[in-house]
Amino acid sequence: MEKDLLLDKSYQCPVCGAAFKSKTVKSGRAKSTGSDLDLRPKYSGIDVAKYEAVVCPECGYGALAKYFAEMTSAQIKRIKEKITPQFIKKEYGRDIYSYEDAIDRYKLAYASALAKEAKASEKAYISLKMAWLMRGMRENLPKEEEDNETKKKELAGQEEKLLQNAASGFMEARMKEDFPMCGMDEFTVDYLLAALYTELEKYEDAIKLISNVIVNREAPTRIREKGKELKEIIGEKSKNKS
Ligand SMILES: [Zn+2]
Repeated sequence: MEKDLLLDKSYQCPVCGAAFKSKTVKSGRAKSTGSDLDLRPKYSGIDVAKYEAVVCPECGYGALAKYFAEMTSAQIKRIKEKITPQFIKKEYGRDIYSYEDAIDRYKLAYASALAKEAKASEKAYISLKMAWLMRGMRENLPKEEEDNETKKKELAGQEEKLLQNAASGFMEARMKEDFPMCGMDEFTVDYLLAALYTELEKYEDAIKLISNVIVNREAPTRIREKGKELKEIIGEKSKNKS
């Protein structure tokens, strides 16, 4: 069961100092069922994307877990000015987070990233994971909504917008920032971008990026192999489209 794969992790808010707990996935317990083209990891019985945004229940500051504690004093000030005054306290699921809970938490994380003037890569990473959340929600619609095509279309539309945000953010970050970026080396970021452009049906951009990864001798073999597979997929998809 989903709740058996979770634990309450303790945090201290860098903005307001509050101590609180946030649900997190126990490491190594969920069974992997592979990944999507854009590196979204999949597990049996749980959508891990629901648990990656951490939100302080007192002041509304939010971030992806790995970025939560990292803050300058200027950023703390901006959160206090721009986020906290508008924040309305709310309760999230006691045992598990629903998709609605998770979306709300990601929105707070994204608003905080804007307020703290986070790097392009951090904002892109939030968009990417939120796109995965929309995909997960669409794949896991409750029985009574399984055939709700309007709902599915709406979620697919939101996912596409977020994937676009992620792609343009990572393109910007690739020019301006150092690697590793969000835990990814430059080859992985280029692979990811090529995969995002494939999903967005921008095949020319995708081919350009993935070709550079495949021919680069410095790229790890694993990512070059994945690159070759992606290139084949792009070839098929662009053929079907034209
Ligand atoms: Zn706080």
